[in-house]
Amino acid sequence: MSRPLRVCLVGATGRMGTLISREAPTDRFDVTGAVAAQDDPGVGKTLRELGAGPSPAKVSPPSALAGLLAKSDVCISFTSAQAEVANLPVIAKGAVPYVSGTTGLTPQQRKDANSALAGRLPAVIASNFSLGANLLIAMSAALKALPSGFDVSIVEAHHSGKVDAPSGTALSIAQEVSKARGYTKTVNGRSGASKRAPEELEVFSLRGGGTPGIHTVHAFGPHEMITLEHLAFSRSAFALGALHAAEWVTAEGREPRVYGMADVLGLKL
Ligand code: NAD
Repeated sequence: MSRPLRVCLVGATGRMGTLISREAPTDRFDVTGAVAAQDDPGVGKTLRELGAGPSPAKVSPPSALAGLLAKSDVCISFTSAQAEVANLPVIAKGAVPYVSGTTGLTPQQRKDANSALAGRLPAVIASNFSLGANLLIAMSAALKALPSGFDVSIVEAHHSGKVDAPSGTALSIAQEVSKARGYTKTVNGRSGASKRAPEELEVFSLRGGGTPGIHTVHAFGPHEMITLEHLAFSRSAFALGALHAAEWVTAEGREPRVYGMADVLGLKL
């Protein structure tokens, strides 16, 4: 039997980092490195002390990242857009396979990140690591079959602490829908006189409570409608998906380029 994958977990004290560390089966994963923000109250404590699974790894500040990467098989990172961009040069240099779920990067930041990584290491970057949401993104492409009289709208709901809007997943769905339906403009809300124009795709965001993530795609026809919806019961859906991606990206012979969850799950888009 092969030894467990040594994981360097970045954003280790966050909602997602804590869950990944807790959910990782110890026969397959060993969280050997943990990194959080310089001023994070968890720095200096072990993951076990923080209630984040059995790992005795001490949470370190970002300055320790390069050293921790050198002792890891894979880097899993769920931080903030700002932190992800700041850590990227170190991650690219470390050349350790990389899984990142951080959202909120601008299109230019995403492009720069992809060029910094390509050719150096295999990476899986996804705005949503759940199997169901990725299936929803793939299914959105089928809306191409509907006649032009149908209007498509996307509604997403998340917990009140979420910083970026629309969610990264909603943006991925919007990209597929725009491709399928020929939308050239996105509208993120309406008030006053704001009649829908044919080239507009509606992408609306709701924020409240502890909602772990709901994405709904409505296709409104003149006499019927279709609703596709994905609802995550808990963030474990994302944590387990990220761990699955970590195993996939470290498989022997994986080329050093940036992949998406569609690649990991074998979904053709
Ligand atoms: P959080 O605020 O609970 O945690 C953020 C973590 O990042 C903390 O541990 C913090 O100390 C750490 N951090 C901040 N600056 C850092 C730095 N410079 N270096 C290293 N670590 C640093 O956030 P969260 O709810 O865990 O979400 C994290 C990200 O993951 C967000 O962008 C969120 O939208 C995204 N997310 C993605 C998915 C997905 O499936 N892709 C699912 C849920 C959340």
